[in-house]
Amino acid sequence: MTVYQPPGQPGSVVTLRPRYEHWIGGEWAPPVLGQYFENPTPVTGQVYSEIARGTAEDIEAALDAAHAAAHAWGRTSPAERADVLLRMADRMAEHLEALAVAESWDNGKPVREALAADLPLAVDHLRYFAGALRAQEGGLTQIDDDTVAYHFHEPLGVVGQIIPWNFPLLMAIWKLAPALAGGNAVVLKPAEQTPVSIMLLMELTADLLPPGVVNVVNGFGLEAGKPLASSPRIRKIAFTGETTTGRLIMQYAGANLIPVSLELGGKSPNLFFADVAAEQDAFYDKALEGFAMFALNQGEVCTCPSRALIQSSVYDRFLGDGLARVHAMRQGNPLDTDTMVGAQASKEQLEKILSYIDIGQAEGAKLLTGGERTDLGGALSDGYYVTPTVFEGDNSMRIFQEEIFGPVVAVTPFDDFQDGIDLANDTLYGLGAGVWSRDGGVAYRAGRAIQAGRVWTNCYHAYPAGAAFGGYKNSGIGRETHKAVLEHYQQTKNLLVSYSPQAL
Ligand code: NAD
Repeated sequence: MTVYQPPGQPGSVVTLRPRYEHWIGGEWAPPVLGQYFENPTPVTGQVYSEIARGTAEDIEAALDAAHAAAHAWGRTSPAERADVLLRMADRMAEHLEALAVAESWDNGKPVREALAADLPLAVDHLRYFAGALRAQEGGLTQIDDDTVAYHFHEPLGVVGQIIPWNFPLLMAIWKLAPALAGGNAVVLKPAEQTPVSIMLLMELTADLLPPGVVNVVNGFGLEAGKPLASSPRIRKIAFTGETTTGRLIMQYAGANLIPVSLELGGKSPNLFFADVAAEQDAFYDKALEGFAMFALNQGEVCTCPSRALIQSSVYDRFLGDGLARVHAMRQGNPLDTDTMVGAQASKEQLEKILSYIDIGQAEGAKLLTGGERTDLGGALSDGYYVTPTVFEGDNSMRIFQEEIFGPVVAVTPFDDFQDGIDLANDTLYGLGAGVWSRDGGVAYRAGRAIQAGRVWTNCYHAYPAGAAFGGYKNSGIGRETHKAVLEHYQQTKNLLVSYSPQAL
């Protein structure tokens, strides 16, 4: 067990700045209008830094820097760009602990997850897209004996990216890695709740990227995000966040006829077929672990398995064992490596979750465990902690239909295969799903029948770089991760060449 010291304390692995500006043209850039906002840590609820409050003026400055850098960066060879990505990956790996502690302090997530998942995944995404770029090929089509069509991948130019607060570094890298590999310059806006680890990353990698290739403008959605997404000076906008915000982003970008990729909300079903409980073995254990994953990252995951659907013949036993797992989860100081459940990312999110717990009780759902703010005592008393919560109810309830984005799972039984699939698909969302069965045929048919972009089969919450990720229905448009995304940051140039000596 290690308990990391808060940033800046004696013995801490990281010191953070009391004030973070924007990062534009490879250096700190104070906000044009000179305004800042306070940034608290969810661990204790105390303000520990102030952040530049970006506006349209700062977005314009960042776009100037990006446009100045885009041409030269776009003309570098794939080998050169891949090398930069690999160096960024190495640099992140060298500073793994510092970045993980900064992320945990700014977001409230357990440092053990940042160390074991967020950071290693981010490092691997950079390496993966370096490899995908090196292996990418253009195309050649023989039109006839004298005519050839060549296809080249060309960068889009300058792209905009807007990300949420639940996985600040990983969401940034999911977007930056393919954009940079594709030869684009970027203006990125972090979530106002969690800018700090991204600013630390900019500082740590400053010498690796040519100035202006990555620019970060901090600030709020309407003040900084909207001018970015609405700008006629970007060639694509990539967004991750709420479905309601995604609709706005599409409207802004529509006026400029640019492509949009949207990674939005979810209400993911996690289906446990009866055969899962046929034996008390390692597989059963794994399935129970899959049930308890609703509390991973305090439930602040777009694919949170927030609806557990359990086949009725084993419902009571599976749920009883699942609840025992939930009770065994250790909630505590996020900087303690033994902590499994940390703090919610913001006070607003804490209040939203508690209000959904009230809604669940008001609409008649049965509270099986949790359902309250956790008081961890001492300096953590004012932190934003919610006890992992399990409700039993039916799929028509709001707690089964609306994204809570907290450590709250709504559980209900299903009778047979079709009933399970119908319940799974009875949602506006279609991002993630889990299917658990020892029968490969059942698992395969369920996986194909569920309307979701990612169906984990006998696993959950794995995010390898090589697997495509994205939503069906109201969960989004487009994909992230997987080499196919490289082409989403490129356009195709066709040269149609005649080698014929004949007159036309
Ligand atoms: P949000 O939509 O409130 O904010 C996301 C980002 O958009 C922030 O940077 C915010 O400042 C910005 N923003 C807000 N309003 C804007 C506007 N009008 N114009 C431009 N930018 C604007 O979402 P959130 O609360 O930060 O994140 C939680 C949501 O993100 C959840 O719904 C979750 O499911 C979703 N999410 C999805 C994925 C995915 O890959 N599908 C991953 C993580 C999170």
